[in-house]
Amino acid sequence: MTTDQTFIVIGAGQAGGWTAKTLRDEGFEGRVIIIGDENFAPHERPPLSKEVLLGNAEKEVCLLWPPGTLEDAGIELRLGESVAAIDTDGHTLSLGNGEIIGWNKLMIATGGRARPLPVDGADLDGVYTLRTIKDAEAIRARLASGANVLVIGAGWIGLEVAAAARKSDANATVIELGDRVCARALTEEMSAWVHALHVGHGVDIRLSTAFDRFEGDGRLERAVLSDGTAIPCDVAVVGIGLIPNTELAEQAGLVIDNGIVVDEHGQTSHPDVFSAGDVTNHPNPLLGRRVRLESWENAQNQAINTAKAMLGTLQPYAEIPWFWSDQYDANIQMVGLSEDWDETVIRGDRDAGEFIEFYLKDGEIQGAAAINNARDLRFTRRMMTSGRKFDAVSLANPQIKLQKLMKG
Ligand SMILES: Cc1cc2nc3c(=O)[nH]c(=O)nc-3n(C[C@H](O)[C@H](O)[C@H](O)COP(=O)(O)OP(=O)(O)OC[C@H]3O[C@@H](n4cnc5c(N)ncnc54)[C@H](O)[C@@H]3O)c2cc1C
Repeated sequence: MTTDQTFIVIGAGQAGGWTAKTLRDEGFEGRVIIIGDENFAPHERPPLSKEVLLGNAEKEVCLLWPPGTLEDAGIELRLGESVAAIDTDGHTLSLGNGEIIGWNKLMIATGGRARPLPVDGADLDGVYTLRTIKDAEAIRARLASGANVLVIGAGWIGLEVAAAARKSDANATVIELGDRVCARALTEEMSAWVHALHVGHGVDIRLSTAFDRFEGDGRLERAVLSDGTAIPCDVAVVGIGLIPNTELAEQAGLVIDNGIVVDEHGQTSHPDVFSAGDVTNHPNPLLGRRVRLESWENAQNQAINTAKAMLGTLQPYAEIPWFWSDQYDANIQMVGLSEDWDETVIRGDRDAGEFIEFYLKDGEIQGAAAINNARDLRFTRRMMTSGRKFDAVSLANPQIKLQKLMKG
């Protein structure tokens, strides 16, 4: 394959790493350069709010491949360097230090950054967000036994932080503006289960609660709610969502709409510029709509698919979204983005913490969420793409294997 071409990948996260690796795996012999502003080889983030936060693993657990793998494949890593601007007409980009590099094809895998909380005291020592290795290590150092940890936002990251705090024997309080935890991703019933899980582990969850400010003398001492209540805390972790890093693409004149708009091959509005991962707004033919996902599996698989498209192998990216979280001894998994269903079927034992909920519309499975039942959830994906209808009574009966229902 062409050796005189240069493909540049911006971002050394999961999508960036997989793009570069796939280009080589697929036989591209030209120059591949990854430019990443974090000074760490391509890595994934899920361990940051799990093993790394718990102190059970060091940051190296996040590496996508053993050190040297990409270099051995002839991929140039320029870490700790930031792309400042892209010139799509000239097919060049400029780095923060002014250096200009030419490219034939470009991958923008710039992911996102944690949404900051615009309140007084957010710059105090002890107030964090959690996106990077640096964030995780700083928070980890503060999760000591007896510490008072305040989490703002009862989404996935916030709840994983609360779980890590409790496992470290710190006190944990979670403040949430909405009226239930993980409201964007979970049904009311599932949300209630996760809520009870945390309360059972001693987390103080305060729903429908507005936050006003942090206070302290240089260092965080307390948080103040809108009703004036003061909560003493040594550490606060703000987990209120992600801002996609679209600025570079926007400046380059690409179409942006809640992320960089790409087609089913990851191609942006410029034919030689591609994008994958958290930063993209992409069509999902299985869901029949556009989505911007913040998920490990999407960052990997969309990047692989898009790298192939950069080489001319066009296969529409079409996967049912899948996401997981680990909190205490509960493994939570979801498949699909259930927005419209008329029946919920529970299979397994909610009280024992081992079950799956199916969301059905006219007998077709729209999505599912499972607690400690990865096996059934994995198979559900196949059921969802089968186009078949399922009987609620049989689905609810754990004595009947899901595989059998597919055969019936
Ligand atoms: C703490 C945490 C826990 C998570 N846990 C789970 C989980 O349990 N399950 C799950 O499915 N998903 C989880 N996720 C989500 C998953 O990690 C993300 O979906 C995934 O990391 C997205 O990868 P990405 O490559 O698109 O973006 P990123 O990982 O954000 O990588 C983008 C990279 O590009 C860099 N960059 C940006 N702009 C520039 C520039 N101008 N120049 C150079 N570099 C630039 C960024 O600094 C970053 O290093 C978690 C995320 C976090 C933060």
